[in-house]
Amino acid sequence: MSNPIEDISRVKSTELFEQAKNYFPGGVNSPVRAFKSVYGSPLFIERGDKAHVWDADGNEFIDFCCSWGPLILGHNNDQVREAVIKQLPNGLSFGAPTQLENKLADLILSNNRFIEKIRFVSSGTEAVMSAIRLARGVTKRDKIIKFEGCYHGHSDSLLVKAGSGLVTFGETSSAGVPKAFADETIVIALDDETALTKAFEDFQGQVAAVIIEGVPANNGLLLQDKSYIQFLRKITKENGTLLIFDEVITGFRLGFEGAANYYDVQPDIITYGKIIGGGMPVGAYGASNEIMSNISPDGAVYQAGTLSGNPIAMAAGIAALTQLAQPGFYEKQEEKTDAFVTEIRNFIAENNFEVKIFSISSIFWFAFTELDAIKKADDIIPASMENYKIMHRELLNRGIYFGPSGYEVGFISAAHTKEDLTKAIASIKEALVEVFKNK
Ligand SMILES: *Cc1c(COP(=O)(O)O)cnc(C)c1O
Repeated sequence: MSNPIEDISRVKSTELFEQAKNYFPGGVNSPVRAFKSVYGSPLFIERGDKAHVWDADGNEFIDFCCSWGPLILGHNNDQVREAVIKQLPNGLSFGAPTQLENKLADLILSNNRFIEKIRFVSSGTEAVMSAIRLARGVTKRDKIIKFEGCYHGHSDSLLVKAGSGLVTFGETSSAGVPKAFADETIVIALDDETALTKAFEDFQGQVAAVIIEGVPANNGLLLQDKSYIQFLRKITKENGTLLIFDEVITGFRLGFEGAANYYDVQPDIITYGKIIGGGMPVGAYGASNEIMSNISPDGAVYQAGTLSGNPIAMAAGIAALTQLAQPGFYEKQEEKTDAFVTEIRNFIAENNFEVKIFSISSIFWFAFTELDAIKKADDIIPASMENYKIMHRELLNRGIYFGPSGYEVGFISAAHTKEDLTKAIASIKEALVEVFKNK
């Protein structure tokens, strides 16, 4: 098969990757970075500016991965950079309270009706792990329900996948997770009121929390019906079970009030990460004053962090969220994304290609499917990922950087200009033609 476009040079990246394999398992510090699901070896990135990144071989890309979501303002945002630089000479960490924590908390809480108190941690995983412990501490129950197709970080309780059957104990999805942990996690399909009802019947009085991604966006973009989420709220309330919205992606992405506002549903606990730190490692969880009063030192649920509320990270978060809080920010993001996906969608329809582009707010996802909606993990056909592999390579060759897996969503940042998006649309059209040319 002849490629109309030459493969980009990966000489330096390949050399660096070979070196990295001596240092890190698989050559990386987070598995998906290893490019196992796409062609070639990973690109080592040297720098980013606005919507663009440059790799070690000097290739330039328009970036739609955006560090997996945090960079809603793009790379090297002026205000974020200046805020970090301003804070640097004052020291990197104290392990004592700083005003910056108050400032970021105030910015978040005064613009969010769904939480009254917050606790900062250093990653999304940590936020979720703490939220689960909090829910167990409050309800004095052990079991949790999660959904197949939702990712909540890598804590033990959540590295669990569905067994066979409508409602089952989970099976560990990673070696090293004790079976006893998996036994406390019930895994069911999304978009299935019957399974949810049965889970509550089977485990009456035992379920501490149900956790769901604000909008499931880690295993494709599985857009849920509002009515289903409202049912979820109703059934959890009836059973004295806490509802946790994991808004690590959707928080500050769907708007300042995230998915809670989108569905008009009040969760009991909300977790945040990614955007909240402006590109620095920050996570957080929040809830009502009453629920949060269970956290130490006020309450009996222990949770702590040496670098929690790190001043540099707080400064970056404040500078980022201040920009997101400006009127019209999210409307503009959404308009831009709508125009982008609409043009691609029209092209797909004209050519009758078997691919869909789903989107919400400034998140989009290509699904090689004939289905008009994909709401659960089982609806994704693993074999269709072969098409994504081809698309990914064709896009890299045209200067467009997508996440290295077809299960990952794409993000549009405020830094993506009209020119960036026009170029990306043209490249995506060409890439799709390549994907489908022999089909
Ligand atoms: C990324 C993500 C996490 C994990 O966050 P880390 O910062 O990678 O630990 C948890 N939940 C959701 C919904 C995520 O997207």
